Amino acid sequence: MLDYKRRHARQIIVTAVTGKREDGKKIISAIIVPAEAPGVAISCHYDKMGVRASNTCQIVLDNVRVPKENLLGDSKKGFSQFLFTLDGGRISIAALAVGIAQAAFEKALAYAKERKQFGQSISNFQAIQFKLADIATEIELARTLVYKAAWLKDQGRPFGKEAAMAKLFASETGFRASSQAIQIHGGSGYMGEYEVERHLRDAKLLEIGEGTSEIQRLVIARHIGC
Ligand SMILES: Cc1cc2nc3c(=O)[nH]c(=O)nc-3n(C[C@H](O)[C@H](O)[C@H](O)COP(=O)(O)OP(=O)(O)OC[C@H]3O[C@@H](n4cnc5c(N)ncnc54)[C@H](O)[C@@H]3O)c2cc1C
Repeated sequence: MLDYKRRHARQIIVTAVTGKREDGKKIISAIIVPAEAPGVAISCHYDKMGVRASNTCQIVLDNVRVPKENLLGDSKKGFSQFLFTLDGGRISIAALAVGIAQAAFEKALAYAKERKQFGQSISNFQAIQFKLADIATEIELARTLVYKAAWLKDQGRPFGKEAAMAKLFASETGFRASSQAIQIHGGSGYMGEYEVERHLRDAKLLEIGEGTSEIQRLVIARHIGC
């Protein structure tokens, strides 16, 4: 068990079922729970594949009680508040993915120019050039999607579909770009010192967090009227 004051947020936002509507549907509320409230247990024991600089913890709530004032926003709209937060978070995850893809691309380009095989830089081989061209094109597209979703949000316009598209495309671009960057590095790419393997491990989480790629496709399908 780690000291929450040093390692964790002091306040946790929990969404929980707090009642039932007349039509039988559940009411979900957002509740602020102080990390030091009696009954809150936080433990960090996960051995993560990537994104190791960010800690991920298990939170167990055992008969935790907080005052009514800790209800966040509209007590009957916790679920829609949560979905709105997720929509915004998707733009951030997409931006993270663009950053990883860009880093992988830059390392792959530099390595391709430096590495000589058969008497020349491997960047002279069309097979390598095409990989780099594909990565560069996908990054350009992913970045444009992120900017569009962020711009719509800033304008106060609907952005759920664009955020899901940006998150889906950018996270999958991040993974593909990292994988191709390893390929361009050959055996060296598999080694920790060139860092492109870390980009692949970090990029994988972005296809899972803030709604998996499958869920993004479901969200987009709903938006396009399926
Ligand atoms: C280190 C870490 C940090 C994370 N941080 C965050 C975060 O900050 N915010 C956040 O939102 N999430 C975050 N996540 C993701 C979140 O915790 C869940 O892992 C994620 O929502 C998927 O849920 P699950 O793991 O229960 O998988 P499951 O729901 O069991 O899904 C398993 C598989 O089934 C698929 N699946 C499930 N339901 C459907 C369906 N209806 N249709 C089609 N396919 C489906 C999934 O896409 C997936 O491929 C994080 C995950 C990790 C590992």
